[in-house]
Amino acid sequence: MKVPGSHRFKGAKAPEAYAETSISPEERQRRANLTDKDKTEEARAARKAAAKKRAETWWTADAISDSDLEPELLEPKTEEAPTGASRKFFRDTSESKPDPNQARKRAKRATKRAAQQANAKAERDGEKRESHAAYQARLASQWARYQEQQMRDHKKYGVDYATFHDELKAFHADHIANPFPKPPSYGCHRKDCMYAEQLEICHHELELCLRGSGRYTVEWLKKERALWHPDKFATKGDGPLLANEMFKLFQRLIEGA
Ligand SMILES: [Zn+2]
Repeated sequence: MKVPGSHRFKGAKAPEAYAETSISPEERQRRANLTDKDKTEEARAARKAAAKKRAETWWTADAISDSDLEPELLEPKTEEAPTGASRKFFRDTSESKPDPNQARKRAKRATKRAAQQANAKAERDGEKRESHAAYQARLASQWARYQEQQMRDHKKYGVDYATFHDELKAFHADHIANPFPKPPSYGCHRKDCMYAEQLEICHHELELCLRGSGRYTVEWLKKERALWHPDKFATKGDGPLLANEMFKLFQRLIEGA
């Protein structure tokens, strides 16, 4: 679309188009009186001044960008290959001021980062060692408590267990003369009892008697359970029935309920 009035300057130079708006009438008059040589020299001086001003502006901007930006943003750049036009500009002039602190700062940051990473790794390793040591300490203390408990149980129920075993031997020797072995009924107030009607004990009561052995473990229970397999009592009266109950109580203890 044609701009209204624009035709006015067609073919004729508009004075305003060549004059700086800030120039005063006096200055315009002064310039009009200059010789060609003076005009050339003034124009050259003006260009120089403008270039210097631009250069100063660029230098300021460059200095800010190098010192104030995040280190990570500057990292991909290398010292040897600056990308900014202003850097190239200053490298080629006497005003060039390559910042000697920059490389030092970068080296310092790298050293600091490496130290932080080393510290973090040492901390992680330390925690691993500590947790392993803590785990072993916990196991050791559990085992110590277990041993203590075994000794107390052995003292308290040792006679009951020995009697229980003696009765088993006697029953196998003569099942007519000797009754089927039954652990003592200590009385149990727990809720999850597996009660054996014929034996008249729950699995907790069997456990107490067995703890009298001083060797109470799952592995030991499995061996002990084998002694009560109903097949071993096949021809011995109500042996199989009672042995079946006993076997089930052992089973429950092994399952850890
Ligand atoms: Zn019980």
